[in-house]
Amino acid sequence: MKVYKFGGASVRSAEGIKNIVKIVSGVTEPLFIVISAMGKTTNAMEVVLEQFMKANHAASLEKLAEVESYHREIISELFEIPENGRNAVKPLFDELKKFITEGVGDDYDRWYDRLVSFGEVISTRIISAYFVECGISNEWLDMRTLLVTDSNFREANVKMNDSQIRLLKAADFSKNRIYIGQGFIGANIKGDPTTLGREGSDYSAAVVGNLLDAESVTIWKDVPGILNADPRIFENTVHIPELTYLDAVELAYSGAQIIHPKTIKPLENKQIPLYVRPFGSPKEAGSVIKSSTEKPINVPVLILRKNQVLITIRPRDFSFVLEESLSKAFVIMNKHRLKISLIQSSAISISVCVDNTRYLADAMDELGNEFKVSYNESLELLTIRGINNDIVNQTTSGREILLSQRTRRIGRFLMKELE
Ligand code: ASP
Ligand code: MG
Repeated sequence: MKVYKFGGASVRSAEGIKNIVKIVSGVTEPLFIVISAMGKTTNAMEVVLEQFMKANHAASLEKLAEVESYHREIISELFEIPENGRNAVKPLFDELKKFITEGVGDDYDRWYDRLVSFGEVISTRIISAYFVECGISNEWLDMRTLLVTDSNFREANVKMNDSQIRLLKAADFSKNRIYIGQGFIGANIKGDPTTLGREGSDYSAAVVGNLLDAESVTIWKDVPGILNADPRIFENTVHIPELTYLDAVELAYSGAQIIHPKTIKPLENKQIPLYVRPFGSPKEAGSVIKSSTEKPINVPVLILRKNQVLITIRPRDFSFVLEESLSKAFVIMNKHRLKISLIQSSAISISVCVDNTRYLADAMDELGNEFKVSYNESLELLTIRGINNDIVNQTTSGREILLSQRTRRIGRFLMKELE
């Protein structure tokens, strides 16, 4: 069997969903299809949640009505008999409205997962019903009953063994050839919904691939495959047809948006190849990530990670026991879920570069109890893999560089964001 994953951009419109039908119709083997929420639904659900948490129930319901009408429009455009689509999602919106009207927003992360996870439930319900209308029989699965996670709400980790038992039972390919499940969501052992981190649907697809021993996992994307740089930021990008798992981990960790960093491990562990293929031109090969390649990457790869903050900390007591300070500082940063993208240490200070998130302020407060803390924000981190002086000049000349690191192969430059 194979796993196909379609992201939010691919299912943002009726046209995109029709294209999925075209792609899936060409496949004769067993398929597990993982799908994201439609378009920007996750962002919209975050606004629904914000209002709910502030006890602005009316504003929250108003925002939810927008989400509902967006999906209704897609349904009207898509279905021969729109009633079939509407019936598929009506109970979900009813459930959401009940949550918002009756719920009390106590624990932000828990409520996030309870509400925002509906984006994927809604999209898969619509697409599964539309498949049926197109004569593609399939079974819809609720990943909140199949992917067992820990209770680390908003960034949950999948418990592979528990999930495998459930998933193998549910996805029985002797009964159905096509299963449809949600990316991004699962539930803890008590059944409370969890999410796996923003953009986590790739990770879901990889986990499903691992648990079902897929022959391959394919992520269909609105790009021609993996490029050596983001074409929206850099000129003269080149297509990379083959990468190793190690290449892919490095790129994802440096902030390449092409795949979620957690995606590679479940695939590498079972040596399952990952294809990244263009949704708009399904005949093209795209890129493949696998254990080894005959065509090593021979161009510099550029990755720009935006919205970075540089934090520099020093022990208050002027202690030089760096190891101890290091471990204390990292425990605090880990607790507040800071994503560290670069580390530099000197005799008495540690500098780390992290993503600017909503947890940052609390982390800084706690670090401030133990350390002297200073920071700079509005920075971007450029990673160049396969570094040479020309490419460094092209990408950094005239820029204010706050920190740089360079090895033989990789250069990293932390710069002020351009105005
Ligand atoms: N819908 C989720 C998000 O937008 C997960 C995903 O699309 O990967 O973050
Ligand atoms: Mg996405």
